Amino acid sequence: MIEIVNVSKWYGNFQVLKDCTTSVAKGEVVVICGPSGSGKSTLIKCVNALEEFQQGSITVDGTSVGDPRTDLPELRARVGMVFQNFELFPHLSILDNLTIAQEKVLGRKRDAAVKKAEQLLERVGLSAHAKKYPLQLSGGQQQRVAIARALAMDPIAMLFDEPTSALDPEMVSEVLDVMVTLAREGMTMMCVTHEMGFARQVASRVIFIDRGEIVDDRPPEQFFGNERSPRAEQFLSKIL
Ligand code: ATP
Ligand code: MG
Repeated sequence: MIEIVNVSKWYGNFQVLKDCTTSVAKGEVVVICGPSGSGKSTLIKCVNALEEFQQGSITVDGTSVGDPRTDLPELRARVGMVFQNFELFPHLSILDNLTIAQEKVLGRKRDAAVKKAEQLLERVGLSAHAKKYPLQLSGGQQQRVAIARALAMDPIAMLFDEPTSALDPEMVSEVLDVMVTLAREGMTMMCVTHEMGFARQVASRVIFIDRGEIVDDRPPEQFFGNERSPRAEQFLSKIL
């Protein structure tokens, strides 16, 4: 589903991604962890072309991300992304946050878009809040809206960039629960997160990235067992 082959990226003289190669098969959940500034966000942003890269290739469901002929709005609609800070549209109601791109990007009729939005709000437990505005909701609720908004586009894969790290601790599990359910339903996912419980529960593989380099890429049994790299060892000893 997602193929990342020998990807390198520079910001000026600074190489932020170094020859990164990995893949995510349909239905796999890949967790990406690593120190601050190691390139995790940059790597997943390259997948839906929010960042450019200078070398290598990325394909999503056969579509080449770096190819100038690729329809980027269409690609971004097909690959959902959820950010640390929710990034909801503050001036739109929760319902309209979920319908706007369905109507404007996918060309869905209002009725169909509203129906889809209502189904998804129910699924994330927020039906009662459809008429509210983002800032009237808690962080955990806003993040569940953000996930529902991405799902409204019927994505073929979902990218998460530290979706729980801006939340108060008591709200982390309500967001992780939605992600675990999605994973178990077979959604293809790339998740930057330091929630190692989530990784143990649902990850197909864990990637550890350090200074722009993929240092470990292995099943969680190995990563949390005794087969991780010394650099990952050092990192885990700091966060666990
Ligand atoms: P964090 O855990 O703090 O979110 P990260 O692993 O997601 O970190 P990135 O945001 O991908 O790291 O950044 C990787 C490196 O690239 C960092 O050193 C950062 O300072 C640098 N960087 C990121 N964006 C830019 C930019 N627009 N211009 C120059 N350097 C940048
Ligand atoms: Mg980041």
